[in-house]
Amino acid sequence: MLTLLLTAMVPALIGMAGCDRAAAQVQANLTQRAADVGGGTASALRARIAPPHDETVAAYRQSGAVNASAHQLTDREWTLVERAIADLPPLHRDVLERRLARLSFIDAPSSAGTALTRAYDGPDGGPLFDITLRADVLDKSLSEFLTEKESMLFTDDGSGYSVRLSAGRAPALTYLLLHEATHVVDRTLGVSTDVRPFSALWVDYRDLAAPYATGPMGVTTYRRGRPIPLAESPELYKALGASPFVSLYATASAGEDLAELAAWSHLGRLHIPLTVEVRDATGRAIVTVEPLRSPAVQARFAVADAVLARAAAKPSQTP
Ligand SMILES: [Zn+2]
Repeated sequence: MLTLLLTAMVPALIGMAGCDRAAAQVQANLTQRAADVGGGTASALRARIAPPHDETVAAYRQSGAVNASAHQLTDREWTLVERAIADLPPLHRDVLERRLARLSFIDAPSSAGTALTRAYDGPDGGPLFDITLRADVLDKSLSEFLTEKESMLFTDDGSGYSVRLSAGRAPALTYLLLHEATHVVDRTLGVSTDVRPFSALWVDYRDLAAPYATGPMGVTTYRRGRPIPLAESPELYKALGASPFVSLYATASAGEDLAELAAWSHLGRLHIPLTVEVRDATGRAIVTVEPLRSPAVQARFAVADAVLARAAAKPSQTP
């Protein structure tokens, strides 16, 4: 009966609001899971798609998108979202199935943030999460999304330098859902708050270890610094290429580092490439970085995957 409700009531869920209803949905899914183990993870997660919580809409409005409002997915967009859910690794899907109250899309193109993950206490004492993504990413390629995001690190100084990130034909949504889902896995299992596996790079959750704290990677906008002139971009990406970080965004905190490692480790398994190019005024590539091919980054993928698998295997950590 509950299974039928969950799979058949998706259009009705569009009109739902309120954590209690979303939490009831999670309970219903737990019942479904017990009755039908291994069946319908994609449809279980599909059933969590609902309008964003009022607090989430307010957060987007405060970040500059004064007209932020719930986005209604078109049939084509439903297909894109289902594809991104299907691309999640088993651990992420499993934790989301148990802990994701809702996945929402919001029309807020002028917002500074692209995604917001909200956590609160569920009825069983464990955490519940709402993931809300800006709807304009549904139609973006990952290359376009990453290039736009990275451009916020720089000021145009007339030097003619440009920075481009390429991720083949991958959609931005696949990456964003993976990244945000890793935050849910991390928060549920308590991984990045224990920085010991990452202590060579992190002094604590927010503070980078030497030499990264004082180098060019330590003072970017992602590290709460000011944008730097584009003429300094070659040195910045040379530093990234020589480091074990998979992206500059990974330097924002230990939690972002883990989310970036888990996301890119899995994207690499899906054969999605990542190339960063700095070009000069003539269009010649003067710095090229391929983080997924870096042995130092690959070693950290292995550490992050092992840490997540170990945390997931602890029964007390997986309510
Ligand atoms: Zn993040």
